[in-house]
Amino acid sequence: MVSVAIDGPAGAGKSSIARAAAERLHYIYVDTGALYRTIGLAAARSNTNIEDDDEISELLSKIDISILFLNGEQHVVLNNEDVSSEIRTEQASMMASRVSAIPAVRAYLLDMQRNFAKTDNILMDGRDIGTVVLPNADVKIFLTASPEIRARRRVAQLAEKGIEADYDEVLKDIITRDYNDSHRDIAPLKPAEDAILFDTSDITLDQSVEKLVNIVEEKIR
Ligand code: C5P
Repeated sequence: MVSVAIDGPAGAGKSSIARAAAERLHYIYVDTGALYRTIGLAAARSNTNIEDDDEISELLSKIDISILFLNGEQHVVLNNEDVSSEIRTEQASMMASRVSAIPAVRAYLLDMQRNFAKTDNILMDGRDIGTVVLPNADVKIFLTASPEIRARRRVAQLAEKGIEADYDEVLKDIITRDYNDSHRDIAPLKPAEDAILFDTSDITLDQSVEKLVNIVEEKIR
């Protein structure tokens, strides 16, 4: 099985690039952020105090999360409910960022993520895939872009879905999330030592996909 780990900050284009590259390579694309978002949503819905370890452990023992693929698209299911759309709000993003700093949450999701790599060729994106989840991945990529470019892209992405977002707010959220993700004690966002650094600020989505497919094909040849 071939595994490709793609890490990087929010909005660098990881999911769009990885999804399109996976399609071209005939690999399964796994978006691990969706799992953290689902736990964030579960915590918000149940008013769980995420500063309280016992409350978080209790929440984790009560919920059931699974991923399924419909026509190649990943869906996340929380207690039998498909929450794939609901986890995309800015509020869910912030909750995801907060719960992802909790060790029990990361431990809860670790095996689930690793199991995908056992059965399929995968392109998995997240924050700690190359460093923690799949330290032996065949290819490791660290995707970045400037915060301003990422904010602009996020606003455009939301606009496409009919959601109006304020650029300054989105930029502020991105900077906060970057800070949270890279300063937490557990599995902080950072490139694996053997990761290829890939900056998407000045190239288009198509060019990025092309480049990623080439890197993978070159590596596994
Ligand atoms: O990638 P996405 O923006 O959907 O991720 C939501 C949040 O989940 C991130 O801000 C990050 O805090 C967390 N996350 C993580 N580790 C991963 C994937 C996501 O900590 N592998």
